[in-house]
Amino acid sequence: MKFLVANWKMNGDVEFAESFFEKINSIKTENQIVVCPPFPLLYKFKNFSHSLGAQNCSDRKNGAFTGEVSPLLLQNLGCKYVIIGHSERRRIFKESNELIFEKYKTLTELGINPIICVGETEESRPQWRDILSIQLSKFKEDANLSKAIIAYEPVWSIGSGKTPTTSEIHEVLSFIKQTTNSKCPTLYGGSVNIKNISDILQIPSVDGVLIGGASLRIEEFSEMIQCIVC
Ligand code: PEP
Repeated sequence: MKFLVANWKMNGDVEFAESFFEKINSIKTENQIVVCPPFPLLYKFKNFSHSLGAQNCSDRKNGAFTGEVSPLLLQNLGCKYVIIGHSERRRIFKESNELIFEKYKTLTELGINPIICVGETEESRPQWRDILSIQLSKFKEDANLSKAIIAYEPVWSIGSGKTPTTSEIHEVLSFIKQTTNSKCPTLYGGSVNIKNISDILQIPSVDGVLIGGASLRIEEFSEMIQCIVC
């Protein structure tokens, strides 16, 4: 079983969600498909045959936090997964490792599975071990880590069409598994598409993929699901 997580980011509308649902809902697979649309479109995935996830959440369960989205509400809407620590949240919204860990604690307490994103920038590529060690330091000893998934997403690969080689992906994911005592599945994310998905999923340390841009191309995404079936 492999994970295939679709991160729509801030894209899509009601019509797109309906077309996506219609096409993807009927696909049968042994694999775990997790679709993460923007918050206002989650309601369109009621009775979805695959899993639903969100792209972010508050670290608090509820209260006076204007504009934030409660993990309790996400659970109520059917989300079993929430992406946290995406590089766009870290870089653009200045989210710290501490805040990401608080979100993780709230999610695991509620029984929601966090998908924790980690990864180095282009400039820090030679120091990827140090960067990942810092990003993982709070999580690695945590008793609830088995409820999480770790997604390695090199920042320089996201949306760029550039990917690490299969041996580089294997080296980094093996390092993550070693750091976390193999407590949770490890995914690769960054410019995954119909052309490279098979090679990436064949890497022994890859338990699945996180897909941004290509998950918005409904035909391609549906082919990607079919491709991992066979
Ligand atoms: C992402 O943003 O999580 C991602 C993997 O994007 P893309 O597939 O477009 O590189």
